[in-house]
Amino acid sequence: MYQEIKDELVNLLKQGKLKEAEPMKNHTTFRIGGPARFYAIPSTEEELIAVIQLCDQHGVPFFILGNGSNLLVSDEGFDGVMIEIKEQFSYCKFEEGELTTVTAGAGILLSKLAKEIAGRSLTGFEYEAGIPGTLGGAVAMNAGAYGGEIKDHIVSARIVTRDGKVKVLSKEELELGYRQSVITKTADIVLEATFAFPKGKKEEILARIKDFNGRRREKQPLEFPSAGSTFKRPEGYFAGKLIQDAGLRGFRVGDIMVSEKHCGFVINVGQGTASQVKELIAQVSREVEEQSGVTLEPEVRFVGKF
Ligand code: FAD
Repeated sequence: MYQEIKDELVNLLKQGKLKEAEPMKNHTTFRIGGPARFYAIPSTEEELIAVIQLCDQHGVPFFILGNGSNLLVSDEGFDGVMIEIKEQFSYCKFEEGELTTVTAGAGILLSKLAKEIAGRSLTGFEYEAGIPGTLGGAVAMNAGAYGGEIKDHIVSARIVTRDGKVKVLSKEELELGYRQSVITKTADIVLEATFAFPKGKKEEILARIKDFNGRRREKQPLEFPSAGSTFKRPEGYFAGKLIQDAGLRGFRVGDIMVSEKHCGFVINVGQGTASQVKELIAQVSREVEEQSGVTLEPEVRFVGKF
């Protein structure tokens, strides 16, 4: 069956690319992950939809990859089609009005989009500038920081369902909550999203971005591979503080370690593996639960067999 799928993928990815047995550690910020059987980089929406429909028809699993900054891919890899949505969908368009609307492709990096938005003296996206993901991943995860999140200024998102139907979902239909959305339930695909922003003062907007990014460099172990905050924030607590109070600062399983700089981050200090991350998450969760009674839930998403 896989030879047949391969032939069809090669045939429909006219401009796009197809790779086989692609190491996922090259596509995740954790620098972890075994091979994806197929790694497709569609170049247009038509190609993207055709790939999805092909997988749907053949019952082959597929996974949508943005910048891989919130993922833990299994050491065995992913036995299906990994579909990259990045540079090829990296546009943004502005429309002036009482509020200026911005429609951007799912593959644009948040840092780039934040720069474009700030460049037009629009305010409300500064907090996204330091999050190392794509817009599609950020909408799916309702990414946010420093008191702001995607939910604040989004108007709608154009999506394609897992069986290939294109739809526009309103803000309400996106069901954006803490690090989740309707997309995390349906696993549909974000093609683009539209936001509306008021005007602000450019110097102040740029200063806020600089401040947020400076705080990140100071507090977060950005010098090591990671997937950011490993655990969701439990209501009324901070995961990092609970982990620190449980005496787990610097706790290690192989090359995977609780960061000494910020205990909410799990970092890869060498050749760490997904099974080591999973083991460390399990041990940290157990210890924190025993000591504080609080259950930690991973924010990082697991891909493949564990
Ligand atoms: P990926 O990691 O590639 O995927 C994450 C999920 O989104 C997957 O389920 C994937 O299928 C889905 N997805 C990706 N693209 C699409 C698409 N086009 N359509 C549908 N689904 C899609 N997160 C925060 O919220 N706040 C922070 O402050 C923050 N800081 C971080 C700091 C560091 C150093 C790191 C490494 C991560 C941080 N993160 C943070 C986590 C991560 O950057 C965000 O969750 C980000 O939104 C993920 O985007 P991505 O493109 O990398 O998605």
